[in-house]
Amino acid sequence: MRSITTLDLQYAHRFYGFKGEAQYLHGHTGVLTIEVEDSIEPGVNMVFPCNEIQKTAWEVLKNFDHALILREDDPLLPAILDVYEKQGIKDGAPNNQMKGPAFKTELATAYPDCRLVVTKETLTVEGMIKIVYDLLKDKLNIAKLTFTSGVNAASAEFTTNNKIDRCPLCGIALNENGVCPKCGYRKH
Ligand SMILES: [Zn+2]
Ligand SMILES: [Zn+2]
Repeated sequence: MRSITTLDLQYAHRFYGFKGEAQYLHGHTGVLTIEVEDSIEPGVNMVFPCNEIQKTAWEVLKNFDHALILREDDPLLPAILDVYEKQGIKDGAPNNQMKGPAFKTELATAYPDCRLVVTKETLTVEGMIKIVYDLLKDKLNIAKLTFTSGVNAASAEFTTNNKIDRCPLCGIALNENGVCPKCGYRKH
């Protein structure tokens, strides 16, 4: 069965080199739906608590929220970094606190200090799904991702193969020692 949750991401981007309005910088509220598949954990009668899926995903994905997402070859990138530098906000600002750990994958690099994500490919809804799956595939048993942004939407299905032991008392994933980080339950 599946547990399904959604979260919002507000971001700015553009399609560099695209022959249409989207070549201009603009913003979206994107909605990501994450479907996690596993057996039902009998102790809690659920696959996975949705707020925990959100928490796990948000830890990484908050780097995309209120962020600028640009392709690595976009000439706006050095121009914007130059402005941020001159303004003294390139390496952080006191009110920029919603930062996840910086990450670098083959498809995307996050610079949380200046709320920037640099991508290898144009950030379409399809591109976003590829990036998100790559970031979360080892943390969650993702069966399907759907991303909508304005009139655009895409979805993809995946085979789940992580073996995730869950706490029979609160449903969340046990840590590498078989202990629940929330209630202290220990697997025997
Ligand atoms: Zn757009
Ligand atoms: Zn627990």
